[in-house]
Amino acid sequence: MTAVLLNGKELAREIQSEISDEVVEFLQNNATTPCLAAVLVGEDPASEVYVRNKRKACERTGIDSQLHKLPAETTTDELLKLVAKLNKDADVHGILVQLPLPKQIDEARILTAVHPLKDVDAFHPENVGRIVQGRPRYLPCTPHGVVEMLRRYKIETPGKHVVVVGRSDIVGKPIANMLMQRGADATVTVCHSRTRDLPSITRQADILIVAIGKAHFVTAEMVKPGAVVVDVGINRTESGIVGDVDFGPVSEVAGWITPVPGGVGLLTVTMLLANTLAAARNLQT
Ligand code: NAP
Repeated sequence: MTAVLLNGKELAREIQSEISDEVVEFLQNNATTPCLAAVLVGEDPASEVYVRNKRKACERTGIDSQLHKLPAETTTDELLKLVAKLNKDADVHGILVQLPLPKQIDEARILTAVHPLKDVDAFHPENVGRIVQGRPRYLPCTPHGVVEMLRRYKIETPGKHVVVVGRSDIVGKPIANMLMQRGADATVTVCHSRTRDLPSITRQADILIVAIGKAHFVTAEMVKPGAVVVDVGINRTESGIVGDVDFGPVSEVAGWITPVPGGVGLLTVTMLLANTLAAARNLQT
């Protein structure tokens, strides 16, 4: 392997330790502990694991957490009632509705019902709009983790060509938006399933960010020598969890690379904690 490893595990530990210190300080200045309320509807095993990991990370950093579990047949109205209750609860600072929701639930209505100040996932249209306008309140956790990783590894983005593969509301769109803003100043290209001759575009990337959900999709031939490769993908295969990037061969070509697991995923959880602390601060003022 010639690429330098972008170690999410180490970074997550470092940032979580900083957050723990800030939580102690917050507690000293305010008569309340930051608290995240997680809402889990149904019994999707992957969602259960994500929520469990988020709650454990809260514990590690001194943030309180609540789990609200609802049955798979919950209706939109029932979930709206719970969200309204959490919006009003002064002890709750951040609300996380774990996605995906069961099909009968109107996801857009639920995400819009979360109070924008408690919207620690930054999925509310108001918070999305603020990101697009370059005056974010909260940054969505996975893109925030990627940007923080680049920043802490001193990988500069101004003038760089960033190619984002994937245009989801959760990863692709917000990260593209964040990196094109003044300050980040990257030149951003967004690719998706209808993009023609994808390899000819990915080979132009100084920084290649992949979030498509297809195991080992990005091969060495698709990467410019020396590029920074950020693999957001999480794919469950018979040989365990793998990313969207064919790690072995690509790490011989890239200059920097994130592993899966041990890369972006751990930072996603960490940024949720950072947003919960930020929400607690915002709600005190
Ligand atoms: P998503 O909503 O399923 O979107 C996938 C995107 O990939 C779509 O924009 C799709 O294009 C594009 N795509 C699919 N096949 C493609 C192809 N052959 N060539 C080019 N583009 C293609 O996925 P997501 O929620 O963004 O998640 C993506 C991956 O990241 C998943 O593996 C997910 O588990 C992982 N993830 C990880 C974290 C983390 O913390 N590390 C967080 C969130 C997600 P169209 O729009 O044209 O359909």
